[in-house]
Amino acid sequence: MLKDFFAYYRPYRTLFLVDFGCAVLSGLLELGFPMAVKAFVDVLLPRQDFGMIILAALGLALLYVANAGLMVVVTYWGHVLGINIETTMRERAFAHLQKLSFRFFDGQKTGHLVARVTKDLEEIGEVAHHGPEDVFIAVMTLLGAFVLMAYVHAPLALATAAILPVIAFVTIRYGGRMTRNWQAQYGRVGAFNARIEENVGGIRVVKAFANEPHERALFATDNAKYRAAKLEAYRLMAAALSINYLGLRLVQIVVLLGGAYFVVRGDLTAGGFVGFLLLVGVFYRPLEKIGAVVETYPKGIAGFRRYRELLATEPDIADSPNAIPAPPLKGDIRFEGVGFGYSADRPVLRHVDLDIRAGETVAFVGPSGAGKTTLLSLIPRFYEAQSGRITIDGHDIRDLTQGSLRAQIGIVQQDVFLFAGTIRENIAYGRLDASEAEILEAAARARLDGLVASLPEGLDTVIGERGVKLSGGQKQRLAIARAFLKNPPILILDEATSALDTQTEREIQASLAELAQGRTTLVIAHRLATIRHADRIVVVAEHGIAEQGRHEVLLGQDGYYRRLHAAQVGDVWESSPRT
Ligand code: ADP
Ligand code: MG
Repeated sequence: MLKDFFAYYRPYRTLFLVDFGCAVLSGLLELGFPMAVKAFVDVLLPRQDFGMIILAALGLALLYVANAGLMVVVTYWGHVLGINIETTMRERAFAHLQKLSFRFFDGQKTGHLVARVTKDLEEIGEVAHHGPEDVFIAVMTLLGAFVLMAYVHAPLALATAAILPVIAFVTIRYGGRMTRNWQAQYGRVGAFNARIEENVGGIRVVKAFANEPHERALFATDNAKYRAAKLEAYRLMAAALSINYLGLRLVQIVVLLGGAYFVVRGDLTAGGFVGFLLLVGVFYRPLEKIGAVVETYPKGIAGFRRYRELLATEPDIADSPNAIPAPPLKGDIRFEGVGFGYSADRPVLRHVDLDIRAGETVAFVGPSGAGKTTLLSLIPRFYEAQSGRITIDGHDIRDLTQGSLRAQIGIVQQDVFLFAGTIRENIAYGRLDASEAEILEAAARARLDGLVASLPEGLDTVIGERGVKLSGGQKQRLAIARAFLKNPPILILDEATSALDTQTEREIQASLAELAQGRTTLVIAHRLATIRHADRIVVVAEHGIAEQGRHEVLLGQDGYYRRLHAAQVGDVWESSPRT
């Protein structure tokens, strides 16, 4: 794990070396100061040469100034190093999330994923900066101070070192526990992030069912779990810090007593005693940082572990190593014996054969839950067929890069998702570099121009999170405008007009028919009026395709389509005014 961690330093080698060098230098100076004070007391003082004394003080002041300069480098540039590494990891975490496929997201809660990219990585920068430096300097300071102490007075130095077993005990006993505790805490944060995210996203449902008390209770449970994990952390910290503190202070008293004894006996000079006490301070400094060992480092390590876990999650649909970018596609789509299920025990599609010619408009109908959306989601490889294969213009879609394949497929999804920005931004999502004129044209073709004209801010109207400020039909038209703008050779419309009123649907139908010209169009629809002119109608029933053909042909067969047609004609009759 350490090796993986240090790999992140590679781009910042110079920065690291400068920071590290300054930190080491500063540590050495810290070691030197007590010896200077010792010399001051033992050598200069007895001579009573004030000129020399002032000169020595000036020299000391210069060293302090130099050390202050080193501290600036270490504090600022060291943190630059840390935050750079943290930023890199955060970027990679986000990029990796985007690589993962629908199947991964199907099994995740958004809040957990948000925590992975935010909270989990919060201490990485600190650890990346202080970690190596602290460890190295701690060792250097401990050894250096010990050698100097031993030089000043060996028995006293040995007494001071008695603290080391205490420190080792605290580190070993509490460090690992704290790391596990932080891992648990990060999990808890993810859980209640998820809770908040879902509650806010679903606030309309929560309120509609007046389920606020229920939601509060669920939240309180999550919150209590987080509190419990935190309390555990504080218990561990309290124990570790106080044991450490007491150990240090007791040893200090031993040193004080011992030192006094040796001075009285004439074994130790006054300057030696003062210098020794200052050295003990230097010796203790890294040991007093045990707080970091039981807080910051475990946080960083826990976060890094969770980060590695995320990166280790392989996308279950990845470009094969020799995948090629798709050439401009005509849109001949073939399903050859395609089988698929979201889980192994529940197949949705079994051995589907389907041949769609370029430029054809094919409509898919069938009972809800039969697998229409699933069938078409295999074409852009949102999910991977488990058996058989799908080809476009003769290319197995697994041999094409996902990006180049999807760039040539326009989809208006069943659940339209809009971003929180403006109408313009949402249409332009179809093609990010589209010009104003192209956006307006796409809006017009999707019959969105009336709405845009009626809004004071026009295209720049902000539509709220997920487009809450728009009606269902307006959202669909926006999604259709995106598809117009993208202008792909293959178009998938998944109940794209289901939320439109009959009048608007009829209007849009005309422009969708126009959109369908010269490209392969796959339409899922419930209202047969919208698809009767399709080149072909495919009935998707349990596990695959039940019947297919033109409207008239299917009407002549005694199948699902005829029953559906009869039911819908009945609908029309039912809804017409009875006289
Ligand atoms: P249709 O579009 O014909 O209404 P779908 O293709 O959406 O039907 O769904 C087909 C079946 O697959 C349904 O039984 C549904 O419960 C299941 N299903 C759909 N999406 C998922 C998913 N992401 N994970 C697991 N099962 C799913
Ligand atoms: Mg569907």
